[in-house]
Amino acid sequence: MGSPERIRNVAKRVAKWARAGHQMVVVPSAMSGETNRLLGLAKELAPERAMQSYHRELDMLAATGEQASSALLAIALQSEGMEAVSYAGWQVPIRTDSSYTKARIESIDDQRVRADLNAGKVVIVTGFQGIDGEGNITTLGRGGSDTSAVAVAAAMKAAECLIYTDVDGVYTTDPRVVPEARRLHTVSFEEMLEMASLGSKVLQIRSVEFAGKYKVPMRVLSSFTPWDIDINEEAKSGTLITFEEDEKMEQAVVSGIAFNRDEAKISVLGVPDKPGIAYQILGAVAEANIEVDVIIQNVSKDGKTDFSFTVNRNDYARTVELLNEKVLPELGAQEVAGDTKICKVSIVGIGMRSHVGVASKMFRTLSEEGINIQMISTSEIKTSVVIDEKYMELAVRSLHKAFELDQPAA
Ligand code: ASP
Ligand code: MG
Repeated sequence: MGSPERIRNVAKRVAKWARAGHQMVVVPSAMSGETNRLLGLAKELAPERAMQSYHRELDMLAATGEQASSALLAIALQSEGMEAVSYAGWQVPIRTDSSYTKARIESIDDQRVRADLNAGKVVIVTGFQGIDGEGNITTLGRGGSDTSAVAVAAAMKAAECLIYTDVDGVYTTDPRVVPEARRLHTVSFEEMLEMASLGSKVLQIRSVEFAGKYKVPMRVLSSFTPWDIDINEEAKSGTLITFEEDEKMEQAVVSGIAFNRDEAKISVLGVPDKPGIAYQILGAVAEANIEVDVIIQNVSKDGKTDFSFTVNRNDYARTVELLNEKVLPELGAQEVAGDTKICKVSIVGIGMRSHVGVASKMFRTLSEEGINIQMISTSEIKTSVVIDEKYMELAVRSLHKAFELDQPAA
């Protein structure tokens, strides 16, 4: 919703659905660029590294973006002749915990919204925000409107939660990296969860978790189609996230390839190989609230081993410092080494449960391209490798081809 013109388009689209007989709750995000603009203003007043101490006020600030777009949408709907009312998160209320800038929704009171729907109104509820137990305004983390929408859909027991976004669905991989990437008509909830956590930016991961918990059918579709396209066509467009495996029409073994450059690798070298080592290293890291992703421990030689893991790049410097200062001396390890120029590439598919040789095909494809694998991690429905960042696009492209994701599904 970048401009009044775009808001009018949204209003016309919503009116079309409402006039077709659907009760509609709309959860707007801020106008495009607005959240960044607001947070940018704060950064002009205080150094970026101090932002953490202003969390409460940042939420107070950022939440205004959604309040504005919601009110504007209500006005646009009313001027289209619809009855519409907008509410800020605290008015519903949408209750969250108190972790500013990354709050979690705890409950949503559906009464006010339901009463308005029953009175024939379109109800607009701000995305991205809520109120904590002490009455403070909170926000749900960047991209949090997705989660608001799913949570509201769950509370209202909606038939479907439509997420209108700037892409027209979920793709086999990012089309900016692989132009042949295809839109998936359906994707299972589990695959979507893996893809979101592995770096696909289409949906905020919490929104997918929420959809899974409350079994909310979710559809990702384009906000750029003309508002007056046929409603039946629109209802089938985009990508539906399903819960039934047999509802899944595309029976490919691998459904998508995700990648991210957000991680860094840390190795603790020359660690004495004895019980308690993993705990000593990773316990200290966890205590500092640093999330660890892929972990490997090598076989030992002469009673010593190397222990490697990845963390978010933003936590890299802090983790190395912590290991050098606190863990190395106690551990009697030799050295901490690190590499920030890595990336993680993953293949995802529920078909991997019932097919063998999927991971080895991935490894063969990478070896044929001369790409060295530094770390591997697997789950039932995904295999991830950590490789040199400079091979990321090559890896994604060759895997996309090897698993025939560019071919239309049979
Ligand atoms: N406006 C918020 C953001 O930019 C929430 C959202 O767009 O989903 O992160
Ligand atoms: Mg968004």
